[in-house]
Amino acid sequence: MKTAVYPGSFDPVTLGHMDIIHRAALMFDHLTVAVGININKRATFSPEERVDFLKRAIAAEGLHNVTVEAYHGLIADYAASLNANTLVRGLRAMSDFESEFQMALANRRINQQVDTAFLVTNVEYMYLSSSLVREIGHYGGDISEFVPQCLAEDIAKRLKQNKPNI
Ligand code: ADP
Repeated sequence: MKTAVYPGSFDPVTLGHMDIIHRAALMFDHLTVAVGININKRATFSPEERVDFLKRAIAAEGLHNVTVEAYHGLIADYAASLNANTLVRGLRAMSDFESEFQMALANRRINQQVDTAFLVTNVEYMYLSSSLVREIGHYGGDISEFVPQCLAEDIAKRLKQNKPNI
């Protein structure tokens, strides 16, 4: 069985992430979307909220071979614990490339069995990131075209409550 892990912060999940999930779900027998803690980024949504959003979006799309879990520690170790040899990552622009390249090499160094498969963004979502959604949402802008439809209201409400710290 070909199993892959798609790790990320998903703070919150966007249509860009969902596009990668759809495409990876077609390539592998099973895909685990792994919600992690990125020590270089301060999260707005709790791990529980991020997992819940992803689960709802995946259920709404009827993706039966995709599960969602939170993980702690190194993704290379976590992938090994699931017997997964592939990490899936999305690439938007050259600006993603350098850090993704470094991470892929580091992960392979930690776990020789693990490879990273990069899926190039759908051009429609090239500009889209969780931080863009957070920023627009903070100021009460319309985020409905950036996130799964079933989550738009909840994410918008939550971001409006989360006042910038200034
Ligand atoms: P991280 O904090 O690990 O970078 P993100 O949630 O920001 O987590 O992103 C997870 C993965 O999804 C990364 O590989 C990122 O490049 C990819 N990704 C994010 N947004 C998009 C998008 N619009 N199109 C394609 N890939 C994307």
